[in-house]
Amino acid sequence: MQHPMKALTRLIRRMRIPWLLLVVASVFALIETAAGLWVPLITRDLIGEAGAGIVPRPLIIQLVLVILGQAVVSGVGLYLLARAGEIMTADLRTQLVGRLLHLPMPFHDEAQSGELTSRAMSDTVTVKSLLTVEAVGLLASILAMVGSIVILWVLDWRLTLVLFGCSLAGLLLILPIATRLTAIGKDVQDGQAKLSGRLAGVLAEMRLVKASCAENEELGRARESVDDLKRLGYREARIMAALGPTMTLAMSGAMVAILGYGGARVGTGTLTVGTLVAFILYLFQVVVPMIQFSTFAASLSKAAGAAAYLSGLLDETVEDRTEGGPAPLRGATLTFDSVTHSYGQDDDGAQVLDGLSLEIPAGKMTALVGPSGAGKTTVLSLIERFYRPDSGTIRVGDEPLDTLQLAAWRRTIGYVPQEAPLLAGTVRENLCLGLESQPSEREVNDALAAARANEFVANLPEGLDTEVGERGVKLSGGQRQRLAIARAFLTDPDILMLDEATANLDAESEEAIRAALADLTQERTTLVVAHRLSTVREADQIAIMESGRVTGIGRHEELMSTHDVYRDLVEKQSLEDHRLTA
Ligand code: ADP
Ligand code: MG
Repeated sequence: MQHPMKALTRLIRRMRIPWLLLVVASVFALIETAAGLWVPLITRDLIGEAGAGIVPRPLIIQLVLVILGQAVVSGVGLYLLARAGEIMTADLRTQLVGRLLHLPMPFHDEAQSGELTSRAMSDTVTVKSLLTVEAVGLLASILAMVGSIVILWVLDWRLTLVLFGCSLAGLLLILPIATRLTAIGKDVQDGQAKLSGRLAGVLAEMRLVKASCAENEELGRARESVDDLKRLGYREARIMAALGPTMTLAMSGAMVAILGYGGARVGTGTLTVGTLVAFILYLFQVVVPMIQFSTFAASLSKAAGAAAYLSGLLDETVEDRTEGGPAPLRGATLTFDSVTHSYGQDDDGAQVLDGLSLEIPAGKMTALVGPSGAGKTTVLSLIERFYRPDSGTIRVGDEPLDTLQLAAWRRTIGYVPQEAPLLAGTVRENLCLGLESQPSEREVNDALAAARANEFVANLPEGLDTEVGERGVKLSGGQRQRLAIARAFLTDPDILMLDEATANLDAESEEAIRAALADLTQERTTLVVAHRLSTVREADQIAIMESGRVTGIGRHEELMSTHDVYRDLVEKQSLEDHRLTA
């Protein structure tokens, strides 16, 4: 983790900052401040002339114009500043989303998606406010401070000392309270991120929560976070309750001191009434910037913290999708050569793949069978390059897999994953997700027919335009699987990988799918992970995986006579099938 302030400057350097807009907005803010400094001076002259019995018409007009001008300039400046802020926020958010989408699988395995998005979004706002409202406010405050010191000193240096003495004393009272407020602001943000992270995860798995009767347990867990936030809110309220009156008190104290001392001076004739009124008006010009100064340091450190988090995200190495050689032509053999793999860095020896060697010949069907947890899905993930193996090599023809261009390589693969998840959206959107060119209506329908999905899609309330719900919850597992297979027909991949593609199907759909797969797997390099051995009997080769290794490979008949584990599995399953059909 880099130093927060360094992270902030680095973040600023990689952000798109609308400098011109910011400069113009700052100029407006400075003009507004200057006008604010001018008003008490006009007022002083006004009182002076009125006291002398003159009707100061030009001065009144001048005062009204300055006040009106100040209002207009202030409004325009605020709008420009907000615009600059939105430009920065949008740019930062785009960068972050791009980053999140391109980060590799190991990152996403570790990340809490809800917490990540919540923090990324709120930290963006924190940085933006520092660079717009806070920074420009600081500039204006410096001008207001310096300006009022100079003007007041010229008007009456003794009264100036009284004013600044009082303001400084008030500031010393307020400062410790104000800093604690910002510290709480950071805790509130962290608490909110934690709560929304947990909640996003729970709401995404409502079926599990309900089926486990865990609603109240989860409510309890949420309550803890909510109560934490409540306590923070109470603390914030206590501080605010102390801060408001303290500020009023300090202001009144300063006012009384100025009025008392100034009044006495007016009495002795060494100060005019106009100047005294001007001083009281300047009191506001001095106090507001002082508060701004005092909170700026806290905002700066909060924004630096946010920047460190955002920079951390932006610094994560992303997958390089464009680097590397072109994807190989059809007909290259996939070879695993003593591949070991474990998830996570701090693994103490437990290898998921433990020296796995396997040849997957082109244009043929290879089946992976074995107990759950053997590492079958991991093999498919490594082929998709979701993870890098710890050691050993995977080759395509003669090329090492990781020298190929990632995007091109993934496009050559059709992958039907185990749970066949979908994204929220329509059936059509899911079918066409990521396709380089939009298929025609005819092609979509052909693919659906080939995957035996046309009937159920036609029966959906809005056919292809039916919303499938978050992760496709409105469809059955088998339906999702058939859509995934239809997608594979649409993409026409060189390599096809099916992870337990028939696991969620009833016997009838399974028969239909098997026919569909027979069409699909013709002449393609196919890797099927099969739970039900009856579906892979016809495979060109069957590899048996146990604890991250291949312990046997061959055709069904060979394995039946040579591999005890395989024979056992087949016999157990056919016994079960027999019982089911009997
Ligand atoms: P199979 O598909 O043969 O049932 P997997 O390849 O899915 O087995 O998993 C093999 C082992 O790897 C399991 O013990 C599992 O706990 C572990 N594993 C799988 N995916 C991950 C992951 N993303 N992070 C950490 N461990 C994982
Ligand atoms: Mg699996």
